[in-house]
Amino acid sequence: MSKTTIAIIGGGCSGTMIAAQQMLKLIEEQTIADWAASPDHKINFRIYDKDGSVGRGEPYALDNDGIFLLNQPVYAMSPFPEYPSHYSDWLKNKQYPYGQDDFTPRSIYGEYLQEVFSKATKAYTTLGCGSVDIVASHVMNVSSRDSGYMIVSGNYNADHADMVVLASGHSRSNLLSEYSHNSNYFSAPYDQEKVKKTLQGSVDPVMVVGTSQSMLDSLALLDHIKFPNPIYAVSRRLVKPWLFDAKAHRENKGSYQYQFLTRQSINQQTELSFEDLKNLFDKDLQEGQGQGQGQGFPMGHIISKFNPHELLEAIENRYTRDNFSKFVTHVGSLYGNPTSPERFKLMQEYEKSGQLRFVQADILAADIAVEDDGFNIALEGKEPLKISALFNSSSYSMKAISDNDYVSSPLLRRLDDKKALKRHERDKNAFAFGEQNWNNLYLAGPSCNSQRWGVETFRDGLSYIAEKSVQNIKRGLIVAP
Ligand SMILES: Cc1cc2nc3c(=O)[nH]c(=O)nc-3n(C[C@H](O)[C@H](O)[C@H](O)COP(=O)(O)OP(=O)(O)OC[C@H]3O[C@@H](n4cnc5c(N)ncnc54)[C@H](O)[C@@H]3O)c2cc1C
Repeated sequence: MSKTTIAIIGGGCSGTMIAAQQMLKLIEEQTIADWAASPDHKINFRIYDKDGSVGRGEPYALDNDGIFLLNQPVYAMSPFPEYPSHYSDWLKNKQYPYGQDDFTPRSIYGEYLQEVFSKATKAYTTLGCGSVDIVASHVMNVSSRDSGYMIVSGNYNADHADMVVLASGHSRSNLLSEYSHNSNYFSAPYDQEKVKKTLQGSVDPVMVVGTSQSMLDSLALLDHIKFPNPIYAVSRRLVKPWLFDAKAHRENKGSYQYQFLTRQSINQQTELSFEDLKNLFDKDLQEGQGQGQGQGFPMGHIISKFNPHELLEAIENRYTRDNFSKFVTHVGSLYGNPTSPERFKLMQEYEKSGQLRFVQADILAADIAVEDDGFNIALEGKEPLKISALFNSSSYSMKAISDNDYVSSPLLRRLDDKKALKRHERDKNAFAFGEQNWNNLYLAGPSCNSQRWGVETFRDGLSYIAEKSVQNIKRGLIVAP
């Protein structure tokens, strides 16, 4: 009996949705001719996850009574580009009370991903196409062999694979990592029971590092456990989440598209006037300037991706340069992440009541002293503040590759050193999505996008990888790297 093995590294949304689509495509493409040519050929899947979980990944893992909500509405969360209402239809079938413009708990989305994966697995194995094995192990290295790959995991097990999909997900930032073993320090994803136990009876405030989307997870958790003391939310630029008006966005014509502003795209026009520039991002700019809480997502990310000063240097045309600097002044109102109406309202209420206090400061420049029951923190130029807990809502790193070219994931770093990976063409902090330099090696997920993470940014790529890899198997293109 001959066999082909596909190794998927990472059992989060990306890894499992690629695997599920590969299985469905392999089932779909079974033909009578295949059976005649190779009656016993099996295509086996091996999915490695260091936590042993498949389907959820970190963002959708913990239940926490459903207090952590998705930051995208239901209609934007189907992982299948050709079936955009998939999540919405699943919710309906399960009789969950959510419409397409609602923001469901992330744990429900996790349940959905798990179910999609297990249904695909069941169909695949029942039809005798091959096996699907889950390996609860940390993959440390992938090396090329004369025929295929060697996957080295956990306790130095070495397994052969013919095709590898890297979907190891999010990297952690180093911010405040020196406190990660302190019982009064929490980093996302938060564990409700642990937080509750630590804060029980506390008379001191807490501090949340970061004022963006994940800050709202901390706030929702503190609200859920009825934390009565002040909550300080600190960030350098004090950019807060903005209200995601799902219906308006759904009906509006796709302004939520990420756009790149590169040297080339700036200079390809000889004289960009204010109007020209404005037209490039018109909708986003207008909305961003709107009521102070409008949608300015893409423009903000463009400016934050490139150092505005470097970008200004790159703009040769004086008019463009002058006008671009006007745009940069709008960064404050433009940059930020959208959030659900529920979480936006919660933030407004806490701010209005005075319990939530925003502070503009750089936590790295703060003096942090560890106490038995919390921390003493002196933010720049401010009086020291005794707090009972520190919530790090900036613990995920958007950059797979740092500005000084350091690859944070050890696995990706090893592969990058061996020139197995492709760099992103325009995003200096990311790798390319899809096929890599080695044959039958694919990469998917957050390490391919340092600007925006979200199912809607990944799904075309997940589906592409599934399609392309199955085509290669069908054409017999499984060859050594
Ligand atoms: C807190 C948070 C909330 C989010 N909310 C949303 C949202 O509401 N909507 C949205 O569209 N997007 C959201 N995202 C974006 C998110 O990036 C994607 O939706 C998606 O979860 C990414 O999935 P992934 O499989 O690529 O990565 P992950 O979910 O991180 O999964 C990677 C998996 O790989 C495993 N792994 C890592 N390294 C190894 C290794 N060496 N060996 C073996 N296993 C390994 C990990 O254990 C993990 O299970 C959120 C992200 C975060 C961090």
